[in-house]
Amino acid sequence: NLILKFLQLSNQPKLPPTAGFLYLSVCLYISFFTPIYNNPPQASVIRNFGPKKKGKKLEMAVAASASCIFCQIASKSTSTTILHSDEKVVAFEDISPSAVRHYLVIPVEHIPTVKDLQRRTEDFSLVTHMLEVGQMLLHRDAPQCTHYRFGFHQPPLNSVNHLHLHCLALPYTPRWKCVKFLSLGSLGFLEAEKLLEKLKPLPPVISKV
Ligand SMILES: [Zn+2]
Ligand SMILES: [Zn+2]
Repeated sequence: NLILKFLQLSNQPKLPPTAGFLYLSVCLYISFFTPIYNNPPQASVIRNFGPKKKGKKLEMAVAASASCIFCQIASKSTSTTILHSDEKVVAFEDISPSAVRHYLVIPVEHIPTVKDLQRRTEDFSLVTHMLEVGQMLLHRDAPQCTHYRFGFHQPPLNSVNHLHLHCLALPYTPRWKCVKFLSLGSLGFLEAEKLLEKLKPLPPVISKV
């Protein structure tokens, strides 16, 4: 098909030979790169909803929040002390702190794990906001610390199945707790900055046609 178009173009005497070649290059470029953009990264069943599934999604979210401890904290139906809350996120202290200061920042929406996030503006902004809240709280509450860490446990090694950003002002307490936050590639602790790189929307493809 492409070659046929190329030949048709090349046979037109009005066009210089370079025009046909340019056209072929552009076609090849588009056909080569388009499939990548047409296949978004694998998304969770819960979040990958069309307008039809919205009711179903809502049902699942309600069911999840009823049994999810972090959803209960986000809805402020527990006695947990809330360090920060806004329309998108809630922050509180980790129930068993591993460092001088150890906070969790969670989205109000029930998102199970980092695997449920996609490369798109919505998810990139959410994680950016979670990180900013975590940084703000640690800089406020542990200004004497020189080392901070922010990141996520990846399934299956995560604890609670509601996305939560661990915010640590080091050192670890006790020291051995550092093992919980080892970066072990796709299994270990994922630094927030690394996750943001994965979620950052790609610049649009500019076609010269
Ligand atoms: Zn939840
Ligand atoms: Zn965790």
